[in-house]
Amino acid sequence: MRPSLAYKAVVLTVVVVPLAATLFAIRLLWQRAVNWPDLALLGVLYALVALGVTVGFHRMLTHRSFRPHPAVKFVLLVLGSMAVEGPAIDWAATHIKHHALADREGDPHSPLDGFFHAHLGWVFESATADPNVYCRNLVNDPIVSFVSRTFLLWAVLAFAIPFGVGGLLGGWAGALTGLLWGGLVRQFLTHHVTWSVNSVCHTFGRREFETTDRSRNEWVVGLLAFGEGWHNNHHAFPRSAFHGLHWWQFDLSGYLIWTLERLGLATEVYRIPPALLARRRQRARAALAPDLTPGKPAPVVEEVA
Ligand SMILES: [Zn+2]
Ligand SMILES: [Zn+2]
Repeated sequence: MRPSLAYKAVVLTVVVVPLAATLFAIRLLWQRAVNWPDLALLGVLYALVALGVTVGFHRMLTHRSFRPHPAVKFVLLVLGSMAVEGPAIDWAATHIKHHALADREGDPHSPLDGFFHAHLGWVFESATADPNVYCRNLVNDPIVSFVSRTFLLWAVLAFAIPFGVGGLLGGWAGALTGLLWGGLVRQFLTHHVTWSVNSVCHTFGRREFETTDRSRNEWVVGLLAFGEGWHNNHHAFPRSAFHGLHWWQFDLSGYLIWTLERLGLATEVYRIPPALLARRRQRARAALAPDLTPGKPAPVVEEVA
């Protein structure tokens, strides 16, 4: 189905307004016209909404990496909805399609169709994946379908909260700067960090495991996206609750799931069986090791961007 002009106009607004606001905010920063409460609002809301996407939408909903307490599930889905990346159920369907067809014909956001398409262009195409085809089990889930149906409410809340908190702290001026930093700048960062997983992590970085796609581990995205940048690890083991597989691979989302498990708020946390992990590492090493059989041409090693 081709997207309507109205749909494209809405998406364009959602992309351009946070960008313009962020440029304005950078100017204020340059003039040192920024208050600490605004930066605190930005930091706290960025962290909460990002964890809603990474732990809620991605690892919990799409990959069933753990079984949440219903209250945790609701809160995570609401926080994820505040990222304004579409209703939970559509987000999950698109992402399942991405894994099913990664970097092949039909992948909603592969850089093989252009880096810009993978990062941002694809969001202008409406209905990239049908939930009835890709995640029928979620369509019948009452919490998921309720939070998905009420998506607009949570999207508005993402801006009403910083506006309200800013207002309580500093009157009308505080409300407006709260909206600017906690709402619009936060929105700009949330979108582009999420989209970087699709674009950057299928283009730049290292590959530790052999996968049928071009996924890569990119540490900057790993830091900013709270562990989602270890994307080659993720494509190799999609169900794993933990994307960081070395102590130095920062994975805040994984640490949160571990904490929820300790608190009894998450069960059935999926961990990669050690024997499987060892086998995959061995296979990757064997694929990289040069074949020194006499008479064989030198192996062509894939260039890592
Ligand atoms: Zn991917
Ligand atoms: Zn995934």
